[in-house]
Amino acid sequence: MAGCLSRGNANETRRLYQGYPARYCSSYSIQGEVVLPRDCVICDGHGDLVRFEDEVFSVEHAGQETEVRGLSGWRCAACGEIEFDAESAQRYAAAGDELVLRARARQSQEIRRIRRKLGLSQAAAARLTGGGHNAFSRYERGEATPLPAVVNLFRLLDRHPELLNELVRDPSA
Ligand SMILES: [Zn+2]
Repeated sequence: MAGCLSRGNANETRRLYQGYPARYCSSYSIQGEVVLPRDCVICDGHGDLVRFEDEVFSVEHAGQETEVRGLSGWRCAACGEIEFDAESAQRYAAAGDELVLRARARQSQEIRRIRRKLGLSQAAAARLTGGGHNAFSRYERGEATPLPAVVNLFRLLDRHPELLNELVRDPSA
């Protein structure tokens, strides 16, 4: 079923958010105008799929949450598995993508703010944390995500900037 979610709207951000149900298009077939549920993919045919319309679901990522309204699809009565209709699945995934992009933007801004506070050039920050000499320009443009170790180190230095002296022995760094 790979490719169902990207049908008609294939772009890179579509696949950012991994939390959405990816199997909605396997759950029913459209014959004329009648939507016929098949089987729950989790229960392997032992659960009844029940139609739902216009429900609200929340999407969560990195501690941020948003609500997506007006979603419809099928819910397995046995296991609770949700299989959205195509349009609902796209909107749900897009809401997740938006949260991912916002989290990346927040992290980029945080990294840049702390680096500047510490008086480090992008090159000096990269020497300190590894990742190649372009690493920080890529982090700060949102083109790459720093390892948690880098983010955690910077957050520590944000709170205890004097510790930078213990890390940077080369005064030209
Ligand atoms: Zn089920």
